[in-house]
Amino acid sequence: MEEKQKIKEKMEKMYRDIARYDKKYYIENNPEISDQEYDSLIHELALLEQQYPEFAREDSPTKRVGGKPIKEFKTVRHDIPMLSIDNTYNEEEIKEFDHRIKRMLGRSTEYFLELKIDGVAVSLIYENTSLITGATRGDGFVGDDITENIKTIRDIPLTCSLRQRFEVRGEVYMPKQDFERLNKEKIKNNEEPFANPRNAAAGSLKLLDPKEVSRRRLRFFAYSGFFQENISTQKELLDFIEKLGFAVNPNRKPAKDVQQIIEFCKEWEIKRFNLPYAIDGIVIKVNNLRDQEILGTTSKSPRWVVAYKFPAEQATTTVKDVIVQVGRTGTLTPVAILEPVHLSGTTVSRATLHNFDEIKRLDVRIGDRVFVEKAGEIIPKVVKVVKDVRTGNEKPISPPDVCPVCNSPVVKDQDEVAYRCPNVSCPAQIKERILHFASRKAMNIQGLGEKIVNMLVDTNLVKDYADLYTLTEDKLKALERMGEISSKKLLNNIQASKNAEFANLIYALGIKHIGERASEILAENFTSIEEIQKADEQEIAKIPEIGQVAARSIKDFFSNSQNLQLIKKLKEAGIVLEQKKLSKKTGKLAGIKFVITGTLKNFSREEMRTELKKYGARVSDNLSKETDYLIVGENPGSKLEKAKKIGTKIISEEEVLQMINEDRNL
Ligand code: NAD
Repeated sequence: MEEKQKIKEKMEKMYRDIARYDKKYYIENNPEISDQEYDSLIHELALLEQQYPEFAREDSPTKRVGGKPIKEFKTVRHDIPMLSIDNTYNEEEIKEFDHRIKRMLGRSTEYFLELKIDGVAVSLIYENTSLITGATRGDGFVGDDITENIKTIRDIPLTCSLRQRFEVRGEVYMPKQDFERLNKEKIKNNEEPFANPRNAAAGSLKLLDPKEVSRRRLRFFAYSGFFQENISTQKELLDFIEKLGFAVNPNRKPAKDVQQIIEFCKEWEIKRFNLPYAIDGIVIKVNNLRDQEILGTTSKSPRWVVAYKFPAEQATTTVKDVIVQVGRTGTLTPVAILEPVHLSGTTVSRATLHNFDEIKRLDVRIGDRVFVEKAGEIIPKVVKVVKDVRTGNEKPISPPDVCPVCNSPVVKDQDEVAYRCPNVSCPAQIKERILHFASRKAMNIQGLGEKIVNMLVDTNLVKDYADLYTLTEDKLKALERMGEISSKKLLNNIQASKNAEFANLIYALGIKHIGERASEILAENFTSIEEIQKADEQEIAKIPEIGQVAARSIKDFFSNSQNLQLIKKLKEAGIVLEQKKLSKKTGKLAGIKFVITGTLKNFSREEMRTELKKYGARVSDNLSKETDYLIVGENPGSKLEKAKKIGTKIISEEEVLQMINEDRNL
């Protein structure tokens, strides 16, 4: 009995919580929890309702569409209810949907696949060739009349050749770029940012001033409609809507079976990061409209459609602490230590806060509940603070007065946002510079990780990266947990690095503003370190993609006597400080820069590299903003995440082979 009472109370609390989350989400467009957390709460409630129907509420959020009209607008009753869509999260659930459809129809049927645009559903009514009403979904039966706002969206035709009364439905969305711009503006004006593009689109549509709405640059994709025409499939319907002059997303296609559905879902799970707008899944519809009718709807959603939702990119968690990391140039980076939370397939316990201006802009405090997001990034970031749930005990964060590692008073350059530790001998900076020097994209000294570098610097065996080449087996063996074998191995790797590629060496030096790409360009334009050192600043600045700031930084680096000493030590240690000029190649693929991740089906990575190089393409291990394409094979590594973050085009093995073939046939 007591047990049952507890369940009842639990369910009552869930109803109360969900009502609050719905209000914050649908009315205020300012969610308190992430969609994934909301969805799992709804899922848990549905299971409890099944088990304990006596406690289930008639108006349960598991049985109805969540939104409600808001007071400021007139309301519109929909001719045909605007329902929600059931969600699936994995292959199994997609297969279950397919079984369900076959069972209900007693046969198989074709599907139609569309991207699930992450925006807001609207209904557009046309009469006598003109748009007469634009409305939100609301609770599915009654929505808000937002016609004037809708008219500001340029993909929505105000007139149309068709005379009959008809309805077009679709998604109003905010492109990623406009979303970023809007949030930056909001933060600057001390307003709360939107958690995601969908909330931003919904919030914008509900603005009372259409002029303001038009500044938000909303866009539209149509995905359904009701006409008197004789149309028999979803495919035909969308083609027809497109012909009428509406924007219909081009990434759509029929699918014969569940295998084709799964392939499309997998494909877009990766490719979505290349799109200029956000999608949160794939919508899988029964293609035949007659079959759709046979299958019908439940009170909440049609039976002939499901959404496959991509793994969540956002979660909410608590900031337990903020620590400050010292980078190799002394930059102080604040990092949030989080209550561990599951996000995009990994457990996240840290998030970058970038710099202290960002902390101020977001107004993050220790103890705050925050949204963290991974949208393609390797390192998650804090995107928003849930200020409504503050208790008053949250602690503001201010920049430290002294370096947390060497206690030097910190400085802030006028023209830079970052605070810096100015002490070049700060142990944290030395360690970071050595780690950078040894990293894979630089000298690639395998086995020289954080632990060993800490020991080497703390025991004074190494004071700069050139000292690495003075290490001996005896010196290494004296370190904790360094046996004979591992010492030998590390020494071998250090020796092997002496022949690193010229570009890698330039990168390894750790010159401010000289990243992987700049290093490659310098390596293409100079034949030795000495030549770079002697080059005129203006000469360097004129090299395409290098520019004034990097040129200045190179000059600064080589006018510092400590750095010259370092170069001398490297030379004495036998590091090759020069390279023959790269020959320039021609061909259509010439100069295109590729990076490969994962296992390819038809080639080893090395074979693919050789093949591409034949056509003048460059294949590097270093993924950077300058990389044109990331080739993705099976089980891709962290490069994929990075590519998504920095917007590198992601392509499959087949697509590369097609490019090679085109070049071959030139
Ligand atoms: P939904 O967003 O999961 O899916 C249905 C919607 O998808 C449709 O209404 C339509 O607008 C859209 N859509 C996009 N592309 C489409 C296409 N090609 N064809 C058909 N429809 C397409 O469901 P919903 O009912 O709009 O919203 C419920 C979701 O909102 C929940 O699953 C949850 O993730 C979120 N939510 C979150 C909170 C929170 O506090 N975080 C609160 C309430 C709801």
